[in-house]
Amino acid sequence: MTIFSRIIAGEIPSYKCAEDDRFYAFLDINPVAKGHTLVVPKQEVDYLFDLDDETLAAMTVFAKRVAKAIQQAFPCRKVGMAVLGLEVNHAHIHLIPLQSEGDMDFRKEKLQLPAEEMQAIAAKILANF
Ligand code: AMP
Repeated sequence: MTIFSRIIAGEIPSYKCAEDDRFYAFLDINPVAKGHTLVVPKQEVDYLFDLDDETLAAMTVFAKRVAKAIQQAFPCRKVGMAVLGLEVNHAHIHLIPLQSEGDMDFRKEKLQLPAEEMQAIAAKILANF
C-alpha cells in the first residue's frame, strides 16, 4: 500500500481539499507555495501516464475543478500543474498557485507552515470546491 493510499484510507492524516468517488486532493506537506495541492487517483497506479485514458481524462477534469477552487481561495495569476512522481510511487498531479515562474521551482526551500494554517488553507479550498 502506498503512503497516498494510506492517506486516502484515513490511516495517515492529511489536509483534505477535495474528494469524489475516484479522486482525492490534499495539501502537499512540503509546499513550494501556499495552496500547493496534490491530486491523486484512489486507484493505486505508480505512474500518471500509465493510467488508462478514461481515468486520466477524468482525473484532469477533477484537477481542473480543484485548480478553480484554489484560485478562488488564493487569488493568483494562474494555477500551475506539474507531474514529477520521483518520490512517491502513486500517480499524482501537483497544483500550485502562481504569481511568478519561480513559484514552480521544486528545488527552492519549501515553506514551513504551522498546522493551523495548513488546516485553514485546506478548508478554504474545500469550501470553494
Ligand atoms: P514527487 O513524487 O516527486 O512528485 O514528490 C512527492 C510529493 O509528495 C512531495 O512534494 C512531498 O512533499 C509530498 N508528500 C510526501 N508525503 C506526503 C504526505 N504524507 N502528505 C502530503 N504530501 C506528501
